[in-house]
Amino acid sequence: MTMTSEPSTSTSTMMTDGVRVLGDEQTGRRVVAIRALQAGEVLAELGGAQRASVATRYTVQVDVDAHIDGLWQFTFLNHSCAPNVRIDTTAMTISAARNVAAGEELGYFYPSTEWMMAEPFDCHCGSANCVGRVTGAADLNADVLDKHWVNRHITELRARA
Ligand SMILES: [Zn+2]
Repeated sequence: MTMTSEPSTSTSTMMTDGVRVLGDEQTGRRVVAIRALQAGEVLAELGGAQRASVATRYTVQVDVDAHIDGLWQFTFLNHSCAPNVRIDTTAMTISAARNVAAGEELGYFYPSTEWMMAEPFDCHCGSANCVGRVTGAADLNADVLDKHWVNRHITELRARA
């Protein structure tokens, strides 16, 4: 059986009602839970995202040589070395990595998707597993990276390096 008349999915990508973007360009934007989120809860599906021709601070790497752009409010997800959100580029979902309380800022581990980042920065999160300089997975020592969940394309790129 084949599906021949599926409508475009570009505007029907599943999106949670549980988050909101706070802040502005001056103070920095952040994504915050506006209700409790359950561990594993899918917050968005990435199927409708646009492929990006070049990596920027707003793109997410989804494969060895592919990036996507414009993840709606999740464009403003900040980095965390103790993430409560996971971007899974195999399932093509954004989900809660653990239970999240209303009001908590959401963050994901940038090197879990990014091999080499367009705009590296220093992390001051203070978590036990803080990586310090965040430049992408390529620059992290194996023992540091082993403490974090990463996507399949990062594991593939590590094996090639
Ligand atoms: Zn950190």
